[in-house]
Amino acid sequence: MKYISTRTQAPAVTFDEALRQGLAPDGGLYIPERFPVLHQHDFSETLSFAEFGVRLLTPFLDAPECLKPLKAACAHAFSFPIPVVDLTAETAVLELFHGPTAAFKDVGARFLAEYISRRSDSAPLAGGPRKKRTVLVATSGDTGGAVAGAFFDRPGFEVFVLYPKGKISERQEKQIAGWGGNVHAFAVRGDFDDCQRIVKQALNDVSLRSQREFISANSISIGRLLPQMVYYAKASLDYRKKSGEKPGFIVPTGNLGNAVAALWAKKLGFPIANIILATNSNRAISEYLASGHWQPKPTVATLANAMDVGNPSNIERLLALYPDFKHLQREVSTFAVDDAEISNVIRDGEGKWRQAWCPHTATAVAALERHAPPGNWILVATAHPAKFETIVEPLIGRTIELPPALADLFGRDCKTREIDATFSAFRDCCA
Ligand SMILES: *Cc1c(COP(=O)(O)O)cnc(C)c1O
Repeated sequence: MKYISTRTQAPAVTFDEALRQGLAPDGGLYIPERFPVLHQHDFSETLSFAEFGVRLLTPFLDAPECLKPLKAACAHAFSFPIPVVDLTAETAVLELFHGPTAAFKDVGARFLAEYISRRSDSAPLAGGPRKKRTVLVATSGDTGGAVAGAFFDRPGFEVFVLYPKGKISERQEKQIAGWGGNVHAFAVRGDFDDCQRIVKQALNDVSLRSQREFISANSISIGRLLPQMVYYAKASLDYRKKSGEKPGFIVPTGNLGNAVAALWAKKLGFPIANIILATNSNRAISEYLASGHWQPKPTVATLANAMDVGNPSNIERLLALYPDFKHLQREVSTFAVDDAEISNVIRDGEGKWRQAWCPHTATAVAALERHAPPGNWILVATAHPAKFETIVEPLIGRTIELPPALADLFGRDCKTREIDATFSAFRDCCA
């Protein structure tokens, strides 16, 4: 399998090369050059998530040297439960928040970390001493924690996470700066855009690049997206087995990565009906589906902050998958949910559904209650509510018990270095 750019002006590359580059040289995003034909009888319900993942992803990583690392990566990415919990006879919840940082991003980040370590162990750089392998991420919240956790304590890797000082929650900061060891946290005196600018400068800096081999782990990495197809595929087959019906999915959506993974699983032929993209007040996707005209928007801050994206980069992958706009409109709908509605859904959640919803998942619940036609739906729960306790606890009037992995992390001290919002301040720390 080769990977091509959504902008079609770059050469097709192998999976490893697509991983290494992150963004294609023409500025596009990598997508599989084709979708393989899979046979659903190969996916029996007795397979574990990891076995299912290997089977699903093998055609996507078919070079012989990829297969062993693929197996290890699936074992590592799917090492925690991903249950589908029934809400009603027709509605269920896909709980993606039982990993180490309690959000769905753990799956993609852990897959990528394990795959890259296996590959780079077996393929050292040609000539010269090995450079320090360095993962560099700018984060406005959840991504940094998942990536830091996935690379924490991995021999031969260092992680640098830049986040805007004072602009993320205390618990989000713990998930970035609580690890210590090979994870270096930088609180930048600026905003998220400053963090991103510093990362871009670092990636292009000749002297830093002579000392370090940078690894791209941001949310456009194809290595984070592909494994996310696995839970949609397996959940849809299990659901149909149980009920005889194809489920639709309602996906809380920001940068559109998790949604594209769902649409790719559908494209592969798994029994998935329509897909609803639930957004917060960042409405660029809703407006696109209404008008057929793509227009990025400035980002609006909301209670569901991991979905605060005004210009979702994965839109290019969505457009590449649906060159025919009418086809997209038939299979996908959107529902935008404002903060007042998010709060209402969380407040009513315990009475109505006996669930404490995180603010992101609450957008999907609102879409179910107010937009989805009656039928078979699986809501995608993207994070554990305990991560957003300052929002959720006052609304439901009780404290939420921490999952054990988070309790451990939140008990640690933050080790962070505060820097000015300049590239030279950052460079001085990592030279
Ligand atoms: C990142 C994130 C989202 C949005 O996912 P995308 O793939 O960016 O659309 C939703 N919910 C939570 C909790 C997240 O961390």
